[in-house]
Amino acid sequence: MASAPNTILSELGFRFDPNNLYQQTATQVLAAAELLDLPTFLQLILAQPKNELMVHFPVRMDSGSYKLFKGYRVQHNNLLGPYKGGMRFHPSVSLDDVKSLSLLMTMKCALVRLPLGGGKGGVQVDPRQLSKGEMMRLTRRFTSALGDNIGPDYDIPAPDVGTNAEIMGWMADTYMNITGRAQRSYGNAVVTGKPLAFGGSEGREKATGQGLVFVLEVMLPAMHIDPAKMTYSVIGYGNVGSWTARLLKERGSKLTAVLDHTGAILNHSGMDADELAAYVQQNGGVKGYADAEAIDTDTFYKHEVDVMIPAALEQMIDESRGSQINCKVLAEGANAPCTPLADRMLEQRGVQVLPAILCNAGGVTVSYFEWKQNRQAERWSAQKVDDELRRLMHAAADRVTDLAKEKKCDMRAAAYCSALQYLDEVYEIRGVFP
Ligand code: GLU
Repeated sequence: MASAPNTILSELGFRFDPNNLYQQTATQVLAAAELLDLPTFLQLILAQPKNELMVHFPVRMDSGSYKLFKGYRVQHNNLLGPYKGGMRFHPSVSLDDVKSLSLLMTMKCALVRLPLGGGKGGVQVDPRQLSKGEMMRLTRRFTSALGDNIGPDYDIPAPDVGTNAEIMGWMADTYMNITGRAQRSYGNAVVTGKPLAFGGSEGREKATGQGLVFVLEVMLPAMHIDPAKMTYSVIGYGNVGSWTARLLKERGSKLTAVLDHTGAILNHSGMDADELAAYVQQNGGVKGYADAEAIDTDTFYKHEVDVMIPAALEQMIDESRGSQINCKVLAEGANAPCTPLADRMLEQRGVQVLPAILCNAGGVTVSYFEWKQNRQAERWSAQKVDDELRRLMHAAADRVTDLAKEKKCDMRAAAYCSALQYLDEVYEIRGVFP
């Protein structure tokens, strides 16, 4: 919970709601802005997205009947470049969530110094309930409803929870078919995270997990944790959780517990991340995995590990979970997995929290590489993608570490400060029109 109303949010007419994700996120960002003494106009600009688009569109279901869906695209800020961010397909997608995630995208891109702004979108739908044909029609109709509110020079969607490369391919193809002649053959830079054969990038699928591993490799040794010897647990075994685990396996880390929407599992001797990924792919979740014992959720949270990696949805860790968690470092693979009260609880208990805008920035960073490749009609090798990603993630991690020392603040505030310093510098140069 945000403990008190923020004055900027009050001025903008927000009715104080400590459980509201947008208010929580904006309050944290604005607190960092205060720490830097940023001008009020900049705080006002960042406290609301530039554009909030909501669309309703019909989709023909396999049964022959029609369903009406609600879709969103929120464009938070484009000071540094085109709006950029994922498209989420999930039953709990709401305007407030999408707004929060778009603000986090602005912060993420600024922290990594990418020439991109922040946006986010999604559709309120349970993708598990749709056939492939229904999913394709939904994606295409949603994309056409957005029309030229997206574009390779304007707003560039990408995968997020519930979406994948196949869906990004349909999105790009639809955009290319409905826009002008110039985009017909060259417009696939409108979306990133596409299949490799249709302009996708090497390394994009594993990118968020890879970025997190690059962050851990520079930050853990400073906290006296050796990745080759550490134990860790993961919440969520989708794209981010499973790729992080598969890449940590190569470094010798031991995965002892996993929690997802189907249940929780534990194996003190460690689980094979690749085998578990194959099992989840086939069975839809970790429940029933033979090489581990089933445990309840409380046991999962209390289980002792060196590093815990939440890689599922927002606000999963509240104050009560924060009081159970038994780890030295919590590395946020998901966006906003901890509530502000959980944050405070973890700090009191001496848990070092590595913030999401640093830990999961690998996804958008390789998206940037994909966009760049598309626009330059180039293809990078997997090695080049990895090398560039490592370079940018290490630089961002160093910026956060240095600022935390300089400002004597936690890593989350330091990450926001670093992003805000860059935005402030560019606003100083550009000014506010007219
Ligand atoms: N959805 C991812 C994120 O939250 C990736 C965004 C992108 O690649 O544009 O960072």
